[in-house]
Parts: sequence; C-alpha cells; structure tokens
Amino acid sequence: MAVIGRTLRPVLSPERCNTCTVCVGLGPAYIEKGFRDDETSVRGKVFQGMGDPPSPLPTPLTETAPPCQATCPIGQDVRGYLKAVAEGRFDAAVDIVRETNPLPLVCGTICPHPCESACYRSEIDAPLAIRNVKRFAALYEKAGMPAPAPSKILHTGHVAIIGSGPAGLAAAYTLVKNGVQPIVYEKEEEIGGMLAWAIPSFRLSRSDVTYEINYLAAMGVTFITGKALGEALTLSGLEADGARAVLLAIGTTQGRKLPLDGSDAFEPLLDCLDYLRQVHAGTPPDLGSRVAVIGGGNAAIDTARTLRHAGVPEVTVLYRRPKEQMPADSEEVAAAEEEGVSFLFRVLPTAIVKGADGWQLEGFETRSESRARPVTVLKERPVVISVTGIVTAVGQQPDVSGFTESEGIACNAGGLISVDDAMQTSRHGVFAAGDGVSGPSTVVEAMAGGISAARAILSKRFKGETP
Ligand SMILES: Cc1cc2nc3c(=O)[nH]c(=O)nc-3n(C[C@H](O)[C@H](O)[C@H](O)COP(=O)(O)OP(=O)(O)OC[C@H]3O[C@@H](n4cnc5c(N)ncnc54)[C@H](O)[C@@H]3O)c2cc1C
Ligand code: SF4
Repeated sequence: MAVIGRTLRPVLSPERCNTCTVCVGLGPAYIEKGFRDDETSVRGKVFQGMGDPPSPLPTPLTETAPPCQATCPIGQDVRGYLKAVAEGRFDAAVDIVRETNPLPLVCGTICPHPCESACYRSEIDAPLAIRNVKRFAALYEKAGMPAPAPSKILHTGHVAIIGSGPAGLAAAYTLVKNGVQPIVYEKEEEIGGMLAWAIPSFRLSRSDVTYEINYLAAMGVTFITGKALGEALTLSGLEADGARAVLLAIGTTQGRKLPLDGSDAFEPLLDCLDYLRQVHAGTPPDLGSRVAVIGGGNAAIDTARTLRHAGVPEVTVLYRRPKEQMPADSEEVAAAEEEGVSFLFRVLPTAIVKGADGWQLEGFETRSESRARPVTVLKERPVVISVTGIVTAVGQQPDVSGFTESEGIACNAGGLISVDDAMQTSRHGVFAAGDGVSGPSTVVEAMAGGISAARAILSKRFKGETP
C-alpha cells in the first residue's frame, strides 16, 4: 500500500504502489461506492475512474517487482498469489507459488518471511500475511489437488545431487522441470536434510516434509538414501555412471566447537545438532534439570524449546550479544520466552568449574556495538550460573572430511566449499550450493542457491542440445 503516515489525509504515492492490490480489494471501498467516489481520499485515488467494483481485482499499478518479491530469495510472485487467493482462484495461486517454489508447505510454515519485512503495509499497521497465505495455498494443494504428472526427460544422462536438504531438493525440482533427470544421493536414511530431523516437529510436521518429497518423486526425481560421498560414492564413480554434472548440496551438518576451559571433565556437554538428532531418534540424552544452551541463532532457540518440551525445568540461553542482535527469528525467540526459556544476554562463557554445590558455568559480561563488530569482554564483570548440562549452538560447518582432498574440492578458510560465479567448485563439472557454500542460513536461501546452481548446470552442461 502506498500510504505514507497516518494523517487525516494519507498520501498516495503511485510510484511506490506496485503491490498486490489485496489491501485495496479487501478494504471497504470494494463494497461501499461512496468510498470509491471520494476523490480526496486514498481509496478514491486508488479506485479512480473504476466505477463499479472491478472483477477480478484491479491490476497492479506498475509492473516492476514489488518489494516483497524483490526481497524473497526465490523471487516468489507474491502479489500474484495473494491476488489469486483473494479472488478465490486457489488452483491458480498454487500454480503461481509452484512456479519458483518446490517446497511451498515448508516455506509457508517456517520461512522467516523477509518479504513481510519489506511490505509497505507495515508502515500503516502490519504487513500482509504473505507466508500464511502461501501456507493456505499449499494446504489447499495438499488437501485436494492431484499429484503432478512426471516431467518429460528430454536429455540423456543425469545430474547427481549429493544431499537431499532444501538446496538439493530445489535443484532437483529445477532440473526435472527442464527435462533433465536428477538423482539425489543422501547419506542418511531419511530425505530432507535439516527439515527431516533438526527442525523440531512441533514447528514443522514430518508429514508436511514427506508430502513435499513425494511431490518431487512424482515429478520424476530419483532418491537414493544411505549413500555418502566419501564413503560408498566417489565423484569419478558418479561421472562414470553417467552423471553429466554433480551438485554438492551437503549443508553444514557439523557443529563448531566452543573453547571452554574444564570441558574435558564435564558431562553432558554436546552440540545442538547431536542433541536434536538424538531427540529425533527417540533417544534424548538426560541433561539434568538446569541446562545452558550457548548461542543466539535458530538452532539455539529450537534446542532450548525442545528441552522445555522434554520437561527440563530450567533452560537458559546464553548469548554474547544483546537481544536485538540475535540472528534467531524474533517470533521464535518470543515463543521460547512464552514456553519458559530464560535468556542471559551479553555473556561470553569461558569455563566450566566444579564448585561445592555442583558444576558452574563461568564467563564474563560483554559489550557489543553491532553484529558486524567483535564483542568486548568485560573481565571485571564475571557471570556464574549453575548447570547440570550444556548444549552448544555456536555455528556449523560442512562435513567434507571424507572427500575434499581425495576429490580435489577446495574449501575456504572458514571450511566452506569454494565456488566461482557459476557456482562451480575447483573441480570441473562439480557445482555446490546451499549452506555448505554460504554457511548456516535459511531454507529459502538454501533453495535459492540450489535453483541458481541448477540453472548454471543447465546452461553449462545442457544448453544448445537438441532434445
Ligand atoms: C535447529 C535448526 C532450526 C532451523 N530453523 C529454521 C527455520 O525455522 N527456518 C529456516 O528457514 N531455516 C531454518 N534452519 C536452517 C535450515 O534448516 C538450513 O538453512 C537448510 O536446511 C540448509 O539446506 P541445505 O540443503 O544447504 O543443507 P541441509 O538441510 O543440511 O541438507 C544437507 C544434506 O546433505 C546430506 N549430506 C551431507 N554430506 C553428505 C555426503 N557426503 N553424502 C551424501 N549426503 C550428504 C546431509 O545428510 C543432509 O541431508 C534451521 C536449522 C537448524 C539446524
Ligand atoms: S518463500 Fe519466504 S520470503 Fe519468499 S514469499 Fe514465501 S514467505 Fe516470503
């Protein structure tokens, strides 16, 4: 909506109003003719000359990408699907969403929706509920639309995708839609990467993930589980089997270590991914009644919430910066607070020490100007809390130990896979995308990486072929 400020006579800026028109269409002017005819009002200006309520809703005032679409990493046509839903054209909404999104149910549930932060409507009250409308369209599809027909494979050979997380799935979707056979190899027995086991099922239902994977399988994507690159698979073996390109979409499945004096003598101390994996396997470890979770990202918050759901009475998240600098989604932080998770901000834990009354986690207060700058440790301001267990969530990196050296794949100083502008690694014909390249990010960003890598593969390895 292109209204600036909340004055008696708000101002319409046509150059800014290139959005979906849903806010207009659902407003009273759609029903009340008098509102449409008042030329001095914003409603009157928007509906200028339209006379009776138009059906379908008015077309957008400009054709440039609106801010929601420009902000979405996969460029979803937000105004297109919001408009289709508003008009009751639900099948069309699903088609628009599916145009660029292979995981609409997942995104409709857990995407941090940067699109909503860009929505002009928040300058008046609140952004349009873009993510929830997507979820509605995705649930509509799940409830009654037929499974997709298999895509026609137009090219010989196939593309081997290593890893079945959002990056690998999005790449597979893009390839199969363009007539190229993808074969996804996954080292675990379950498909989906972090969606399958790390993100707690109270936030993302496993049946929704299964639905998305079945959809891709129906399109013709082949999945092979229990096969890892670096173990059963080699790059030359995949190429010899007919892979015309390989995409590494291996995520960041290894937790980084936190230097903590005295940690050798203390148990239980584990990484958040190990903890969440054990919970998913149905064998949660016993961490006692006072657990500290160290970190400030989504993984830390999910771990803390999972601990509370498991009945741990005292769960405290320690983060070295202030609350407003947390990388975690603010909605998730609020949910954790509601569920009884405590927070200690501006604390850097440095040691675990045995005292008379049990183990104590010791550290110092910090000062932090911004997330871009390192924290200052205030050594004169010690902090001590009693703990029975510690879970660290201080970053993740890809597990490349099995294949980088033997297969000639270069990594950067941070342990992430290096790629060029075309997302190709140091080995010709081998591409990489997702968290394994960018570091821990979000589902939609990993998907965007997978889609870009698939497009690069199509252009470098299949372009110009006559199918
Ligand atoms: C606890 C937690 C909560 C999160 N919450 C959210 C959220 O709410 N919203 C959001 O948008 N994002 C969230 N994220 C981030 C999101 O899950 C990731 O950004 C995303 O899954 C990355 O996708 P990916 O495909 O790059 O990697 P992954 O999802 O990690 O998938 C990589 C896959 O590759 C497989 N693999 C690795 N090595 C090999 C090998 N050698 N051979 C074969 N297979 C291999 C792995 O087993 C895995 O299945 C969360 C992450 C965590 C850990
Ligand atoms: S995928 Fe995420 S960022 Fe993109 S439109 Fe949907 S909710 Fe918004």
